[in-house]
Amino acid sequence: MIPRKHRHVCMHPEIKFFKPHGIPMGQLEVVDLTDEELEAMRLKNIEDLDQIAAAEKMGTSQSTFQRLLSSAYKKVTEALVNGKAVKIHELDRPMRKFECWKCKHTWEEPFGNGRRGIDMKCPECGSEETHRCDNHGHGDGRQIWGHKGHSN
Ligand SMILES: [Zn+2]
Repeated sequence: MIPRKHRHVCMHPEIKFFKPHGIPMGQLEVVDLTDEELEAMRLKNIEDLDQIAAAEKMGTSQSTFQRLLSSAYKKVTEALVNGKAVKIHELDRPMRKFECWKCKHTWEEPFGNGRRGIDMKCPECGSEETHRCDNHGHGDGRQIWGHKGHSN
């Protein structure tokens, strides 16, 4: 009998699994890659974003982005060099929480949905004056989006 784990499978049912050829499952070691680490590599290597743009896109600080990226590289390298499988899975962490400055509406967005924080609009009033109001995992706590001042 297999105990069923309580998971939010409805949101992200997809688990990607890369297995080296010719190694039986029983002997296979598995490296766990989070979807955030994968997203960090994707933004950096596929979309060719610099660290500032990539961190902004993920809604993280640059140091967090850097940390995700180096941890991702390390895991992938380990898998390729040592012939381990790579499993990409959803992190058990809360949703990103946002608040609208204008109407004070709050809502949540999942991680890794590819939506840019800077493009986040209030689903209630459509205002772009929104900000992230949780601080999970990001030490700097300054995740104020909505001003597009830096694009001049
Ligand atoms: Zn609003």
